[in-house]
Amino acid sequence: MQTASDLWQAVLGEIELSLSRGNFITWFKNTVLLKQDDERIIIGVPNIFIKQQLERKYNDLIIETLRKNGTNVGQVEYKIHTALTPVREEEAAVLRPSPGASTAHATPAKPQATGLTHAYRQGLNERYTFDNFIVGSGNELAYAACQAVAAQPGTKYNPLFLYGGVGIGKTHLMQAVGNTVLAGNSQARVVYISSEQFLQEFVDALRFKKNTDFADFYRGADVLIVDDIQFIAGKEKVQEEFFHTFNALHQASRQIIISSDKPPRDIPTLEERLRSRFVWGMSIDMQTPDFETRCAILQTKAHNHGITLPTDVTEYLANNVQTNIRELEGALNQLLAFCEMRALDPNLGIASSLLGSAQTRPKHISAKQIIERTARHFQIPIEDILGPKRDKDIVVPRQVAMYMLRSELHLSFPKIARELGRKDHTTAIHSIEKIEKESRLDADIRSAITSIKDKLYA
Ligand code: ADP
Ligand code: MG
Repeated sequence: MQTASDLWQAVLGEIELSLSRGNFITWFKNTVLLKQDDERIIIGVPNIFIKQQLERKYNDLIIETLRKNGTNVGQVEYKIHTALTPVREEEAAVLRPSPGASTAHATPAKPQATGLTHAYRQGLNERYTFDNFIVGSGNELAYAACQAVAAQPGTKYNPLFLYGGVGIGKTHLMQAVGNTVLAGNSQARVVYISSEQFLQEFVDALRFKKNTDFADFYRGADVLIVDDIQFIAGKEKVQEEFFHTFNALHQASRQIIISSDKPPRDIPTLEERLRSRFVWGMSIDMQTPDFETRCAILQTKAHNHGITLPTDVTEYLANNVQTNIRELEGALNQLLAFCEMRALDPNLGIASSLLGSAQTRPKHISAKQIIERTARHFQIPIEDILGPKRDKDIVVPRQVAMYMLRSELHLSFPKIARELGRKDHTTAIHSIEKIEKESRLDADIRSAITSIKDKLYA
């Protein structure tokens, strides 16, 4: 006889075929059939949002598929079932066998760290996968396009151009393409690079007269992913180099994926010939995920920490951090860390007191305000921060100011350098990295940053 679990597996198998993979994983992956009798079937689901989504959107499909599998029920109920703890994200990334791997073991065939293959997978972070990306309105189309590209690089949307605001998953999706391609073929040459890094390598290549190596490296890619292309706008030489790289790859049917904060037509100093290349393929406008999706993201991430977030807390967070998923994750992590240290369960009171100060922040602060505030905090004249002096008690404030311009205003490195009167943007890169590192180790730096921020947003 067919067991309940066999039945549900059969139903899931069929539903999987009729939905996008992302939707299937988000809404159906962690469901079980809890109970079945003549009148009704009870499906266990991990959280309230999945429950609501299944009730509202997928109920008919589920009933219909059950019927096709010989089970005619009057009613399906969805019940939150907390034992459904999914594998943690990190573990999942390690345990999940890669699609192309022929081995029956759970250990995926890691790309061998030899010669080119190794060099070519630089820049990819295995944390970013399709499976841990929550699909919803705003990112559905980008998700589908990225999956199509990952399945057959170079054949469909080429180039694939993703654009949209900060922290909405562009990098995550592009990296997921790279990781999926490599999982299918460990020899694939996948190159992920931010356009700032491209710029810097190009400059170094010119300086050290290695430009042919540079060109060969990028033109040898099977999949080239260039993140945040807006940063090379206005840089003639590097745009030209990129243009040639683009043409060489495109002609050879190699996949190119590009992201930006705006559509190509709105990047004012993007060279016309590059702009026209970008419209050859497919451009996708990524939007901030809607409320439901933000709730699902929170629930999933909390679940990965072994915590079920109360509905009011989830909704509170999703309502208060609307545009940036990175900030949404940050708010959640802050809450979970706070509660863990004090052995408390997350509740609305804690969430609102933690988020309260952040919430009243005005939208617009200027670069000038940041630099002024930093100078004042360290009690040095603003001219010193902007000037040439290299004493330690001036260099550190200057580095903190650069860090804040990046973290608060997301300015590009060249822009940050200019704001502080420097010519070389690599100084900005190094300074920001240094402060990032130090703020993890050094409580003084951390408290300086917090106190400057508090005053800025007060
Ligand atoms: P962008 O490149 O658009 O600025 P990222 O790809 O860096 O944004 O995303 C910011 C953070 O939010 C990352 O940690 C990413 O994993 C997470 N994130 C964004 N969208 C989703 C999503 N739909 N599901 C899960 N995590 C997401
Ligand atoms: Mg990004």
